[in-house]
Amino acid sequence: MSESASEKQEWWNKGVRFQCQGSGKCCISRGEYGYVYLTLSDRQRFAKHFDMRTSSFTRKFCEQTEGIWHLKTDPQTKDCLFLLENKCSVYKARPTQCRTWPFWPEVMNAKSWKKEVASFCPGVGKGPVISAQKISKALKEQTQSEKELMGPDKLITPLQ
Ligand code: SF4
Repeated sequence: MSESASEKQEWWNKGVRFQCQGSGKCCISRGEYGYVYLTLSDRQRFAKHFDMRTSSFTRKFCEQTEGIWHLKTDPQTKDCLFLLENKCSVYKARPTQCRTWPFWPEVMNAKSWKKEVASFCPGVGKGPVISAQKISKALKEQTQSEKELMGPDKLITPLQ
């Protein structure tokens, strides 16, 4: 089946009403969704934002789990280090997984959407309808990012 044919059958074909309400709920630790993973371009964007070298940013704010870079977490809460007073303090430089949320491939089936997204995210059902085209773009971006993170080179990612 071609990609366009399969997209026609998605439950989100007519778009999804969603608008971030700034609750910070997607930035707190939730088991398997606990880490904010970072591709090299995510780390480079952050480094530019902080006017640091990428290697310095990586040393100061990142660590690896099973060979994959992610932001360090708050030692007490385990939430994202950049969540301050329930708001993202690095919004313009936020990484891919934060930009594409909640349109991640692993939750864009009707069952997971209900269980993993709609049940806790107050942005679902609010604001304008996000078109299927925009959702598809976010899905592709997130898929690409996940491929980069999980690729065969992940274990030898140099500190750069
Ligand atoms: S970088 Fe910002 S949007 Fe992403 S998890 Fe951290 S506080 Fe939330």
